[in-house]
Amino acid sequence: MATKKKNMRNTLDTQSIFELSKPGRRAARLPACDVPESSIDKLLPSEMLADGPPALPELSEPAIVRHFINLSTLNMSVDTHFYPLGSCTMKYNPKRNERAAAMPGLADLHPYQSEDTLQGMLQILFELQETLQEISGLAACSLQPAAGAHGELTALLVAAAYFGDLGERRTKVLVPDNAHGTNPASAAMAGFDSITVKTTADGFVDLDDLDAKLDDQVAVFMITNPSTLGLFEPNMRAVADKVHAGGGLIYLDGANMNAILGISRPGDFGADMQHYNPHKTFSGPHGGGGPGAGPICVTEKLAPYLPVPVVVRERSEVGGERPGNTNAVSESSASFRYRLDFDQPKTIGRVRAFFGNVGVLLRAYAYIRTHGPDGLRRISENAVLNANYLLSRVTHILPVPQGNRCMHEFVASASTLKRDKDIAAMDIAKRLLDFGYHAPTVYFPLTVPEAIMIEPTETESKETLDAFTEVLFRITEEDADLLHDAPHTTAISRPDEVRAARQPVLTYRAE
Ligand SMILES: *Cc1c(COP(=O)(O)O)cnc(C)c1O
Repeated sequence: MATKKKNMRNTLDTQSIFELSKPGRRAARLPACDVPESSIDKLLPSEMLADGPPALPELSEPAIVRHFINLSTLNMSVDTHFYPLGSCTMKYNPKRNERAAAMPGLADLHPYQSEDTLQGMLQILFELQETLQEISGLAACSLQPAAGAHGELTALLVAAAYFGDLGERRTKVLVPDNAHGTNPASAAMAGFDSITVKTTADGFVDLDDLDAKLDDQVAVFMITNPSTLGLFEPNMRAVADKVHAGGGLIYLDGANMNAILGISRPGDFGADMQHYNPHKTFSGPHGGGGPGAGPICVTEKLAPYLPVPVVVRERSEVGGERPGNTNAVSESSASFRYRLDFDQPKTIGRVRAFFGNVGVLLRAYAYIRTHGPDGLRRISENAVLNANYLLSRVTHILPVPQGNRCMHEFVASASTLKRDKDIAAMDIAKRLLDFGYHAPTVYFPLTVPEAIMIEPTETESKETLDAFTEVLFRITEEDADLLHDAPHTTAISRPDEVRAARQPVLTYRAE
C-alpha cells in the first residue's frame, strides 16, 4: 500500500474576499467634500433607493491586490503552462493583438456613433468578412454570432429560412457520432430533429449508414473536418455529393480550421456554410466565459438569409472638385465608404446586439493580417507537424486507435492502462496538474474508450513536447493509488464536477 502524499496542497489563502473583510478597512481615502452636501432623498424618489448601502467587503489595498493576484496564480493559462487541450486549440495569443484591439480609436468607439465617424472600424470589419470568405472559399459572411455554438445555431436558422423559402419542409439534421455536443444541441435549438450518423472503426463517416439516413427530410449534414479525432475525412467529396444530391446542405463545424488554413478550403470540399472559432484558430483570448465570436460564412444562395446588419463597401467620390480639374474626380481621389446594411428582406434578423463582439473580431483581424496567407499556411503546417511528433512519441504507451498519423490533434486511449494497471484517463489528466501541465481533453469524443485528446498547437517548442512526453511516461509508471487521489498540489483536488457545474456557489452570504 503506497503512502498517500498529503500536506502537499497549495497553501495559498483561498478565503473569499468577504471572509477577509474587516469593518472600516479602506483602500482609498476621498478628499473632504468641497461643495455643499445634499441628501440623496432629495435627488431620487424614495422607492428608487436601496434600504442600505451594498454589502461590499472592506479591505486595504495590499489585501485586495494579494487576494486577486494569488487567485490568479491558481489558474492555468497558455501564458503560464503548456495547455494541450484537444479540440480547444489553446495556442499562444500574441500580445500585439491585445494592443491593437485596445487602441483608443477602436476601443473607445460607441456603436451609436454615426457611420461617418466609424469608417475605420467598419473597414476592418468589412475586410475581416472578406478574409474569412477567402479562407473558407465561401461567398458571404456574418460576424455577428457570439461563439462557435452560436454560429452553428445561426447557420441552421439560415438553412431553415432557405428551405422555408423553397417551400420545402425538412425536419432533420444529421450529425456524426463523434461530433461535439454543441452540434446536436444547436440542431435541437433551431427546431430540427438531430439524427446520429455512425462512424467506422477508422473514425470516418460510415457511408452506408449515411445512405440509410438520407432522405428528403434532411436539411443539413453537420460535419467537423478535420474531425474531432484529428482526421481529415477521406470521403468528404462523396459525403457532400450524397447530401447535395438529396437537396440537403453541408455545414462545416470549423473548430478545427487551425489544421487546414491556406491548405484546404471548406467551400472547395463541399461545405455550404461554416463557422469559425476566432478564439481557437485566430488566437483570441480563450475560456473563462468571456466574450467569444463565431463568424459564419455561407454560399451565395444562402447569403440573403444572413443576420443583419452586414458591412458593405461602396465606392464614394470624396475627392470633390480640384482646381484645374473642374468636372472629373480623379481616380486617385476616389475612395471607399463603408456602411451597415440592414436592407436584407430575407434576413433571419439579428442574433446579437450591434455588430457582434467587435473586440474579439479585432484581435482575429490583427492576427490574420500579421501572418498573411503564407503565414497562416505555416501555422497549420506546424500545428500538424507538432501533433504528429507528439503522437509518434506517445503512441507506444498511450495507443492511438485511429491510426499513426493525424492532423492538428489526436485521440489516444488509456483503456489498456486501465485494464492492466487501473490507471484511467481521468487519473492521468488529474496527475498532470501536479507537474504543471493543463490536462488534455478526456472522455471525448465518446467513440473512443478512455479517450485522451491531445492538441499541442503550433506555438509549442520541441523541448516542451519532449518534457510533456517524459512526464506522461512517468505518470503511467506511478502507483495507481497515488494517481487515484491526484492532483495533490492544487487548492482543490477532485471536486464533484457535475455539482460544481449545476449548483455553483458563486456568492458569499453573511449569516
Ligand atoms: C469548441 C467547439 C465547438 C463550440 O465552439 P464554442 O466557441 O465553444 O461555442 C463546436 N465544435 C467543436 C468541434 C469544438 O471544438
